[in-house]
Amino acid sequence: MHDTAHTNPLLAHWGSPFGLPDFAALQPAHFMPALRAAMRTHLAELDAIGANPSAPDFDNTVAMLDRAGAQLYRIDAVLGNLTASHTSPELQAVQREAAAPLAAHDSAVKMHPAVFARLDGLFGRRQHLGLTPEQHRLLERLHSDAVRAGAKLSAAQQAAYAQAMQELAELNTRFAQNVLADEADFQLVLQGEADLAGLPGFARAAALQAAAERGLGDGAHVVTLNRSLIEPFLTFSERRDLREAAWRAWVGRGEREGATDNREVARRILQLRAQVARAHGHACYADFALTDCMAQRQLAVRELLDEVWRRALPAAEREKDALLAMMRSHGQEGELAAWDWRYWSEKVRKARYDVDAAELKPYLSLDRMVEAMFDCAQRLFGVRFERRPDVQAYHPDVLAWEMFDGEGRSAGLFLQDNFARQTKRSGAWMSDFNYQSTNRGVARPVIVNNNNFAKGAPGEPTLLSFDDAKTLFHEFGHGLHGLLSRVNYHRLSGTQVLRDFVELPSQLFEHWLSQPEVLRQHARHWQTGEPIPIALVERLKAAERWGQGYETVSYCGSALVDLEIHAQAGAVDDISRFETETLARLGMPPEVGMRHRLCHFQHLFSGASYASGYYVYLWAEVLDADAFNAFVEAGDAFDKKMAQRLLSHIYSVGDSVAPQDAYTSFRGRLPKLGPLLAKRGLLEAGLPAA
Ligand SMILES: [Zn+2]
Repeated sequence: MHDTAHTNPLLAHWGSPFGLPDFAALQPAHFMPALRAAMRTHLAELDAIGANPSAPDFDNTVAMLDRAGAQLYRIDAVLGNLTASHTSPELQAVQREAAAPLAAHDSAVKMHPAVFARLDGLFGRRQHLGLTPEQHRLLERLHSDAVRAGAKLSAAQQAAYAQAMQELAELNTRFAQNVLADEADFQLVLQGEADLAGLPGFARAAALQAAAERGLGDGAHVVTLNRSLIEPFLTFSERRDLREAAWRAWVGRGEREGATDNREVARRILQLRAQVARAHGHACYADFALTDCMAQRQLAVRELLDEVWRRALPAAEREKDALLAMMRSHGQEGELAAWDWRYWSEKVRKARYDVDAAELKPYLSLDRMVEAMFDCAQRLFGVRFERRPDVQAYHPDVLAWEMFDGEGRSAGLFLQDNFARQTKRSGAWMSDFNYQSTNRGVARPVIVNNNNFAKGAPGEPTLLSFDDAKTLFHEFGHGLHGLLSRVNYHRLSGTQVLRDFVELPSQLFEHWLSQPEVLRQHARHWQTGEPIPIALVERLKAAERWGQGYETVSYCGSALVDLEIHAQAGAVDDISRFETETLARLGMPPEVGMRHRLCHFQHLFSGASYASGYYVYLWAEVLDADAFNAFVEAGDAFDKKMAQRLLSHIYSVGDSVAPQDAYTSFRGRLPKLGPLLAKRGLLEAGLPAA
């Protein structure tokens, strides 16, 4: 017996004004039947397109294909959002059960013989169909999606390919769940003043709050593997032994023997990816993946990474010298270990720039920073955000905001889920419940931002570090990319752009946080309401360059290992050994290390979207540094004309325009590398600027 709209809220009409489901009525058991019903509907829609007796044309094939599967998309989005932000053992079981059927369905859709025959025929005649540029782009993208999913392979190859896709989907899910389990499992309980030594008030408050959430009773403090708890701990704790214990747990996620060991999971993922690449006639997965990027070729990525790497290594070396000198001045002998770096780095930062993270935090309350980002969005793009306390999402901490456009029309819903909890995965991200598209009749997108901030103590505000505030702006930049989208077709909407372009709107938006006028207006002391002192802003800006060597090396190390491991034609038996050997060959300083080690590198192994693509942040940084310079050149961070160009050529167009064309339309030329090197302070290395 099938579930119906009467018995399953996921299949019922989602009557809420923004098309959200009735979360209160939703049970994990509703998902599988709803997904199965929606997959059947989707296949029936495709069968109808394929069986259409009329000759294929854009409307009866391409536009219909873009419209098909809307119900499945929405149900799958609910599952994806819940399993990432508020999961449970029952939902994790659904996620494991659904992974293979969803992957099989995706293969069946992309390889649908009758539909692909029509699509392929139209693609061959695309220059003669009288299409608009957006229609042309849609046809190209849908055709490419199908070919990359195996539509052109022989029937026998297609069966093996679909099988590999299902296994990959299951492995990706298992990888993510293993990391989550290791993170949830660890806690470092701090006993008394001796264990708390060096921790500033905000770090103590967060550790107290985390202990309370874990039911650890009166006055207990606990450090977990949540980034917003562990990074301050590694930065401030005077207890070297405890820093080492916390650091080892942090970098060892996914590498512990037993049920959550990710080494074998990753080995099998890599083996299957190599198989996928060979099916498409590529020597390795990196080559296959990069053909669908702005970079196109491994060489282009390597040129950028190598250039930045060779400048960053000496910068990190100079930073290390400063850390050692600081250590010695405190009477500490011996080597600098990986768990010491942040601690001594903060001491140097404080001594050189007189910027103390603890002095800064009271000015960066979460509520004020949210006001700041909304204000920047309004000044740049004319949109206004209004709280909707009546819109209920999946957890009481999620806040809903309605977005109004410059003419005062309701134009989207923004959900903000800011706090860490045990049911949420680590990191920060943007996702959607639905994208805007005329073709699917969705005028108002529903966009989500997740952060993992440590909640302030009851009655006190949540105070952010400057990095936290940047993360807030970063994710809101992605959010705006989703919310401001004005395209016709779903496939081209919002952030569904090529992956080395997707970080441009997010990283670009971070620049506005650092503007003195923004900080002076919004960074106000939570108790006194005093604006942040100008001198502190200036010291903060100067201090921003400190530590760039470390950050760049740890990031580039991860990107280079990612590229290297996906460039292997043969099998990699032991990912941890491969990692060690590759880092040694690159000359990675062991006390820096990778930002994400392979055994918990979710970008690469919880899905394929960043596999051989961790470089995209740096690639996009070339674009964002160059793009923000357009405002600097205009002499005003909120220059009206430039903001209008940014909206019409970048934030609103999704993937309806090829990224290099979109960028050129905005900037009048292709990007230059210089602004990135300057921003990271990597021009001082005495090397010529490229
Ligand atoms: Zn991002």
